[in-house]
Amino acid sequence: MKTMEEVLRDWEAVIGLEIHCELTELETKMFCGCKLEFGAAPNTHTCPVCLGLPGALPVPNKAAIESIVLAGLATNCDIEKHTLFYRKGYMYPDMAKNFQTTQGPKAFAMRGWLDLDVDGKGAQERLDVRDLEVGARVQSATRTETGYTTHIGITRIHMEEDAGKMIHIGGGEGRIDGATHSLVDYNRAGTPLMELVTEPDLRTPEEARLFMQKLRQVYLSLGISDCSLEEGSMRADGNISLRRRGETELGTRTEMKNINSFKALHDALAYEICRQAEVLEGGGVVVQETRHWDPGAKHTITMRTKETADDYRMFPDPDLAPYDLSDEFIEGVRAKLPELPDQKAARFQRTWGLSAYDARHVIEHRDTAGFFEVAMAQAGADAETLAKPIANLIINDLAARRSADESFDLATCPFTPARAVELAGLRASDAISSKQEKEVLEAVFAEDKDPAVVVEERDMKQVSDAGAIEAVVDAVLAANPDKVAEYRGGKTGLLGFFVGQCMKEMAGQGNPKLINQLLAEKLSV
Ligand code: ADP
Ligand code: MG
Ligand code: ZN
Repeated sequence: MKTMEEVLRDWEAVIGLEIHCELTELETKMFCGCKLEFGAAPNTHTCPVCLGLPGALPVPNKAAIESIVLAGLATNCDIEKHTLFYRKGYMYPDMAKNFQTTQGPKAFAMRGWLDLDVDGKGAQERLDVRDLEVGARVQSATRTETGYTTHIGITRIHMEEDAGKMIHIGGGEGRIDGATHSLVDYNRAGTPLMELVTEPDLRTPEEARLFMQKLRQVYLSLGISDCSLEEGSMRADGNISLRRRGETELGTRTEMKNINSFKALHDALAYEICRQAEVLEGGGVVVQETRHWDPGAKHTITMRTKETADDYRMFPDPDLAPYDLSDEFIEGVRAKLPELPDQKAARFQRTWGLSAYDARHVIEHRDTAGFFEVAMAQAGADAETLAKPIANLIINDLAARRSADESFDLATCPFTPARAVELAGLRASDAISSKQEKEVLEAVFAEDKDPAVVVEERDMKQVSDAGAIEAVVDAVLAANPDKVAEYRGGKTGLLGFFVGQCMKEMAGQGNPKLINQLLAEKLSV
């Protein structure tokens, strides 16, 4: 198969996501009073309604509707006042009712959008944008200094209920193939579920990954779900098709269901781009079907060809009256909107002068955003000076620790906001070099000590005494007359050699800025 980059030179990928999210922070289920609790003993949170017993009547959960309206407002959706629930035919043992109660195309939240900022390596996937000048646009993407921003339409967010959970016994790895029997746990049946559907506006696997990540940040800030990909409370279906560059018609899509990690979403879509290109370039056609991503084998396989919408036999649920949300209700929900991630990033830029890139990455995780705010409060008058170096510590050093160690917990680790202020202060005043800063940080983590104590104990203070440095500079220049002559003859790249010699003389503790300055002065005469 060709690489994704080779494929994307000739083909454009078109991606749309359906992202499911359980409202885990609610007390009770969607249509009954059963408790929502992950990990409870099987079938301990059930009742006639969620077991679908004859004659049981559903009562909608008002708090669930508040949550979805909140989600809609936070993603720039219009709130649809007049909606209703449907019964969608569903015959499988994990849903005892034999239908799922769900909204139709008219949902509580419609026509929203989120803007994505794409930068770093991931921005390279977007071939039509990467060579543009800053400010230039293609489709809904605009080139920026660090990458690009792109506008992603949200078709709707609709409300539905989750099914129960099947456990297959006797087969391999809990799979149904070869199982002797299956068990069903209805605790999850009837859990309120929001499904967000995007327009087919995404163009690369990286954009899809970032969209899901950003939506997770938004939902977390709203406090409506724990958004746990591992426990399955947030999961995505990825729809993807290819078309020749310049073509405007959509190609035939395939769909990958129930993807439960950001990496899997990216990799499954990237694989599917390469696979579809091979089919199309070989003169074949893409079959509209559901495919399963196997992260171990790193490929997708056919699960089933697409059933049509008619198969579901949707009709309005006769047990649930249509909705008429009042303006008062909607405004009441709007008043509960917290500061959203984009607003937080904008405030960090405004208040402490962070760049858009730094602000975005500092707020990427809730704990780092909080860490930064506490550090800024403790920095007092130095806050603006220390904002950038502390942001760097968060974006580079702390992020690296987090990705290297899953159990990393910023709240309990030895590196506190106060220590970040101290370390950044030592570096900003040139008391330590940037190399020493890394060493101190290591020591703070390893020995749980204040940065100033580490510097003291290891006698690390950087030499910033101009007299002492000048003496070393003079000695180095005197010892290398031939190199000095070459430098003056135009080989200015030798500056690094002189800096290195001076550093060696000073056992790495000379202030590099001063050394550079003095060398440049003395070499230019
Ligand atoms: P369904 O309900 O059958 O899954 P939808 O029309 O609701 O189908 O679309 C589901 C998702 O697939 C949406 O995110 C949409 O943007 C996306 N999508 C639809 N057509 C295409 C296509 N040709 N290529 C890529 N994505 C598509
Ligand atoms: Mg679908
Ligand atoms: Zn129940």
